Amino acid sequence: MIDRIVVIGGGISGLSSAFYLQREAERQGKRVRLTIVDGAPDLGGKINTLQRDGFVIERGPDSFLARKLPILELAKDLGIEHELTAQNENGKTSYIMRDGKLHPMPKGMVLGIPTNLDTFMQTTLLSEEGKRRSLQDLEMASAAPEGDESLGDFLSRRIGPEIVKHISEPLLAGIYAGDLSKLSIQATFPQFAEAEREHGGLIRGTQSQQQNKAPHQAPDYLPEELRNSVFLSFKQGLSTMVRALDQALQSAERRMGDAVAAIKPLGDDADAKYEVVLESGEVLLADQVLVTVQAFNAADLLEPLVDVTELRAINYVSVANVVMAFEKSTFDKTFDGSGFLVPRSEGLRITACTWTSNKWLHTSPDDKVLLRCYVGRAGDEEVAMLPDEELKKAVLEDIQKVLGIDAVPIFTQITRMPRSMPQYPVGHLDNTARFRKRLSEELPGVHVTGAAFGGVGLPDCIRSGKEAALEILATL
Ligand SMILES: Cc1cc2nc3c(=O)[nH]c(=O)nc-3n(C[C@H](O)[C@H](O)[C@H](O)COP(=O)(O)OP(=O)(O)OC[C@H]3O[C@@H](n4cnc5c(N)ncnc54)[C@H](O)[C@@H]3O)c2cc1C
Repeated sequence: MIDRIVVIGGGISGLSSAFYLQREAERQGKRVRLTIVDGAPDLGGKINTLQRDGFVIERGPDSFLARKLPILELAKDLGIEHELTAQNENGKTSYIMRDGKLHPMPKGMVLGIPTNLDTFMQTTLLSEEGKRRSLQDLEMASAAPEGDESLGDFLSRRIGPEIVKHISEPLLAGIYAGDLSKLSIQATFPQFAEAEREHGGLIRGTQSQQQNKAPHQAPDYLPEELRNSVFLSFKQGLSTMVRALDQALQSAERRMGDAVAAIKPLGDDADAKYEVVLESGEVLLADQVLVTVQAFNAADLLEPLVDVTELRAINYVSVANVVMAFEKSTFDKTFDGSGFLVPRSEGLRITACTWTSNKWLHTSPDDKVLLRCYVGRAGDEEVAMLPDEELKKAVLEDIQKVLGIDAVPIFTQITRMPRSMPQYPVGHLDNTARFRKRLSEELPGVHVTGAAFGGVGLPDCIRSGKEAALEILATL
């Protein structure tokens, strides 16, 4: 018997699920027929690399954390590990803006938590009072509430509001474009809560986690020069991975540019368990359905069949990025870092800027500079939807002001991503476990995975996608 599996969504979650479904089914001697459906014309979802005039421009994600192995394993499985590239050795310092000036991030900060108290005490980013308040964490008893807590409440309680406003918020919220007071600590940075629980305090706990953590075991197949890079990417951009997955999945059927409009359960005596109805009217028969789309799209599809309260609780923030290319000769300054973060209190439109050509040498010709500026965050999303000319002007003004330059770009590339950053609310882990249990009881054969559930980073999406694939195969 052949099991027909429809994977809804051709982003990295859908593609990696499909890849492992195909590979593991073959290994286990199970026969499956895969169909990948996406409403967009191209595979990749948020991953979208543009090659233009010798530049490699990432319109979505631009790199990934090297210590998270599922993505490296996938690169190896796809035979593209030799395409990987490391961050520039000399472009690693990041800066944070305070009172209109850029300050280097103090050495020894781990996700914004001080672990080297000497360098922390020397930083110009915080007032003396703010630093003293942070260090009270070393003396304070643990006061962890039962269950989950917001990231903002936790950090303010432990290390004080000043560091949260000027370091944690721009740094951590940058990853989620979120509001720390609404994000779940357990679903985003559980290691912080663990530090307090196991060591009585955040700083001591983070120091201990750093000392005791097993050295990062870079896999053997990773070339020597890539082993020390915290972040990695691909020389021709992250779309390399999408192209390789596309190739590897040649035998899977596709329906591109034709979104799923409905999922309909069929009766016991029917030829399949579900009908997947596309917007074009085409109907696909399915024994298993894997939904990998954004939570709000998944909620729309599943709401007629099951209670989707938990999916509706996951809000999404709209962001945009504005990439600007310059002639290097028009810059009268050089920049030694990877970029800078802009706290809300600075009153700029941009939330961060990556000095892409310095952080990633493969992205730009030698005589050019490539900057990627981000706009939009929770509570400040309208800016991401400004008309092109207004957005370009606003971003250029901010950049010229911060960097003290008057260079004008050769070209500007805008990418808007409406409702693209999932915000894991307090209670997210319990919520999603409850939802999955209900789904398996009420709609057996329908599964969910993707960035809305078990981590937004690319490696987490791949890990979750593989887990979903193995779970489905176990039921066949
Ligand atoms: C601006 C930005 C920057 C980021 N930077 C990084 C980074 O540098 N590193 C990192 O690790 N992560 C980063 N992330 C996170 C990461 O890119 C995403 O979490 C990940 O790509 C999501 O993949 P996914 O497959 O789960 O979802 P998506 O990529 O969103 O794919 C979902 C797919 O479902 C399709 N779809 C939706 N509804 C339907 C329907 N009804 N029928 C059919 N198809 C449908 C959509 O068209 C889409 O293709 C970033 C995210 C954003 C938005």
